[in-house]
Formats: sequence, structure tokens, C-alpha cells
Amino acid sequence: MTKRASIASLIPASQDIYRKIVFEIADGIIGIDDHGIIRLCNPATESIFGWKSGELLDKPLEVLLPERVHGFHQKLVASFQSGNTEARYMGQRSATIAGRRLDGTEINLGITILRTSAAGSPMMVAVIRDISDHVRYQNDLKRLAETDSLSGLLNRRAFRANVLQSVSANATSYSSMVIFDLDGFKGVNDRFGHDAGDEVITCFSDVLRNSIRATDIAGRWGGEEFVLFLPNLKAREAIAIVERIRANFSGADFNWQGHPSANFTVSAGLAIAAPGCADLSDMIASADKALYEAKRAGRDQLVCLEIQQEALAS
Ligand code: GH3
Ligand code: MG
Ligand code: MG
Repeated sequence: MTKRASIASLIPASQDIYRKIVFEIADGIIGIDDHGIIRLCNPATESIFGWKSGELLDKPLEVLLPERVHGFHQKLVASFQSGNTEARYMGQRSATIAGRRLDGTEINLGITILRTSAAGSPMMVAVIRDISDHVRYQNDLKRLAETDSLSGLLNRRAFRANVLQSVSANATSYSSMVIFDLDGFKGVNDRFGHDAGDEVITCFSDVLRNSIRATDIAGRWGGEEFVLFLPNLKAREAIAIVERIRANFSGADFNWQGHPSANFTVSAGLAIAAPGCADLSDMIASADKALYEAKRAGRDQLVCLEIQQEALAS
């Protein structure tokens, strides 16, 4: 059965307008029977999924889906078939449907499914739009809006949002907030120039990123100040992580355009919150106070204020 014959046999000649729409529209239109076998397929569907003309007919719908979603998809179809809804749009940004092209690449789909019948048999029809470009564009915009361009770390706004999420997910454990401030950074700019200063900021960001767990959240607070949220850790372990970051940074040799190599240091203030007591603003204020003490006490050190004995125990 060719695609034209299929469409023609399913849509009577008296409904030429519908035949033309199905044949010419840029959205994919695909119909499956009760067994999930493709019985209707327009040229746009073949083009979206990279198949040759007519080759999708009589194949199971699963050939258009990545294997990992087969189970989920079967449940979805069954629930739609047994429900009362006549038509439903699926594929909002938060729940994009994945499709698989013949060459194995995955695409993002926006799909409207509807229940109908053709040639006397029930048929489920899906109107399919390839929204991959749209999803990619949105993801790029999101990443740009959340990332500090020099360090590649989260910016202040995204850091806050991520920490708020982590705080509610880790309400039953200790958590720590750390603020880092590079020591004598004005001197770096004065001695080597602003570009070199940028390079030192990048160097510290790399050290920070490479020294933390996947669940920790690091951000650039502004200038040469950085923030780190460590969920689900007691003070002793948090202190060990911060000291490792400080040691890695001060141990990194900085070579800048023919200048003798140099090393830099960083001060840090740490605040720890007991289970259920993590408040972002309070923790930042408390870590900032501790940082101020670290600077006042001579720099190149970590200060933690008001740590209860309980928080230290492992
Ligand atoms: P302290 O040990 O007390 O922290 O001394 P400091 O010199 O680091 O003091 P301060 O925090 O006041 O200075 C920060 C300097 O960082 C001032 C500013 O010119 C510089 N700075 C802020 N953002 C950037 C940046 O993105 N790139 C570069 N190169 N310099 C920056
Ligand atoms: Mg500063
Ligand atoms: Mg500084």
C-alpha cells in the first residue's frame, strides 16, 4: 500500500479537502489500529522520522519511539483508549515526548492524539510536530539565563533557586553554606592586569567545580566571591571539603604571560544549619559574617561561627 493509496483508501474521495490536508500539511499525521499497527501515515510523518515513502505502513508504532519509553507509551495509549477523552495534546515543555528517527537520533515531539474511526474500524490518530529546535532553543536560553559567563557556574539567581529546591529535598539533614572570597584580588588585577584577574577567577571556579559532589551547588555570587551549598553533610565533612578546595587553589601555580609563576589564596566563611532549620538568607548572612572574621584574622583561612557540638559529630 503506498502512502497515497493508504490515505485515499481511508478518506473517501467525497472528502477531498481532508485528503489534501492530510497529504500536504507539514505536521505528521499517523493512525494506528487497536493493535498499535500503523495504518495511516502522511508524507510529513515520513520526513520527520526519516523513513522512505510508504515504509512505515503496517509497522508497529514502536519503531518511532526510543526503547526506553515503550512501556510508558503503551500505558499511555491504553489509558487513552479506555478513557472518555476524545482528543488530548501531549508534549508541554516539561513533559516533551521523545521520538526516534530511522537513523537512531532522538527528537522532541508535540503530539495531539485523537480517537476516531476509518474504513469502519476504530483508529487512534496522532498529529505530530517536531519541536526539537524549539526545545533546544529553550534549553539554551535557560542555560544562558542561569549561568555566569566567565566562570560557567550558576549565577546568583539560579544559585538561590537551586538551593531552595535542595533545602526542601534535604529537610531532615544538616546542610552548610560557604562563601569564598579571593584574597588580595585587587592586587592581582594591579599586578598582572584585568585579563589575568579573569583567568584567576576561572581557575578558582574550576577548582570549586572539580572538588564537589554532584548534589552540591556552586555559584558565583559576584566579582571574586563564590558560594557553595553542601546538603546532607555534617560540619566536619563540610569543613574537609572547603579545606580541600582552599588547598587545591593555593597549590595551583598561576603562570601569566612571562611573569614569574604566582600562587593565590582564598578565605571562606561557613554556616551550618541543623535539620529543618536551613534558611537561605540566614545562612548567607551567617556565612558572610564568618568570612568577615576570616579576613579580619589575616586571610587564607576558613572560619565557622556558632557550630553546635551535635553538628560536628559524624
Ligand atoms: P580581600 O583580601 O579583602 O578580599 O581583598 P581584595 O583585593 O580581594 O578586595 P575586594 O574584594 O574589595 O576586591 C575585589 C576586586 O575584584 C575589585 C574588582 O576590581 C575585582 N573584580 C571584580 N569582578 C572582577 C572580574 O570579573 N574580573 C576581574 N579581573 N576583576 C574583578
Ligand atoms: Mg570581594
Ligand atoms: Mg577579595
